[in-house]
Amino acid sequence: MSEEIEHIKCLIIGSGPAGYTAAIYAARADMKPVVYTGLLAGGQLTQTTDVDNFPGYPNGIMGPEMMEDLRKQAERFGTDIRYGYVSSVDFSSLPHKVVVDESKTITADTVIISTGASAKWLGLDSEQKYNGFGVSACAVCDGFFFRGQDVAIVGAGDTAAEEATYLAKLCRKVYMLVRRDEFRASKAMVHRVQHTKNIEIIYNSETTEIIGNDTGVTGVRILNNKTQEEKVLDVTGFFVAIGHKPNTDIFKGWIKMDETGYIITHPDSTQTNVEGVFACGDAQDHIYRQAITAAGTGCMAALEAERYLAAKEHVVTA
Ligand code: NDP
Repeated sequence: MSEEIEHIKCLIIGSGPAGYTAAIYAARADMKPVVYTGLLAGGQLTQTTDVDNFPGYPNGIMGPEMMEDLRKQAERFGTDIRYGYVSSVDFSSLPHKVVVDESKTITADTVIISTGASAKWLGLDSEQKYNGFGVSACAVCDGFFFRGQDVAIVGAGDTAAEEATYLAKLCRKVYMLVRRDEFRASKAMVHRVQHTKNIEIIYNSETTEIIGNDTGVTGVRILNNKTQEEKVLDVTGFFVAIGHKPNTDIFKGWIKMDETGYIITHPDSTQTNVEGVFACGDAQDHIYRQAITAAGTGCMAALEAERYLAAKEHVVTA
């Protein structure tokens, strides 16, 4: 006897600010959303400490607590939140087919992709040890905690250049660690970095260790890969800006994406190239990557999914 396949009206894949905001709107629109949380329930914010820039929290909030609040708000309107990950999809026909935990197949009228992105890390043990205690992958989120202090940032792309200039406004000194003898960032961004007085660019430098104690980061050990000279910079903050990887591998071949894997949506919309499939949050946004912008596009995705379903029902019943 074959197992009955569950059918869902609105399936939301991922449980960061985008996914939970989509769930709040979809549940209130009576779309009976089901959220599959993914392996990191709550998303990237569960790995941060203080969040001070999300509107509505005048005293700031811890990242994990904020995600717990968003989860409860989504549940309050009846969202069905399930711990599990989507292992593959088949968007070749309607309704869409999705396999969960490599075993259970479900079908869905609408799919909202909110699988987020993961920051790339250097891969040092000391980087992991001090993550959240002086090591960060988001200057806009955490730069404020290092006001008036000396910090270092690694990376040479547009993100690193943008974050270095952001940090330069807050910090006393910013060391920018570039592994080659040139930048990858656009000329305009490089020009800005080079003309910011308190940014010191150190070319040909590789980070070999983050040094710290019970209070957090106290320095960073770098190696000049041309001269093999080693030195320690006294910094209290270490920012990693070497790129992000969107968590979109399972959609390859079905959904249009750029060469890095960011999902391409229609202009001013979360609609993907596949009917009834919408994408929001960091999986489709390589520019802003903020919790509040992810929440904003999550709202858009739910509203667009609702309109899509309403239009379909109208055609069926008309
Ligand atoms: P990129 O992939 O463009 O750059 C990553 C940078 O990190 C490169 O300079 C790379 O060095 C460096 N890097 C990678 N691994 C290491 C390592 N192990 N040690 C040291 N350095 C390392 O990522 P971005 O996040 O900067 O940008 C992603 C995309 O988003 C780009 O297309 C960018 O243009 C765009 N963007 C646009 C913005 C804007 O227009 N305002 C703002 C931010 C991003 P190397 O050069 O040696 O490979």
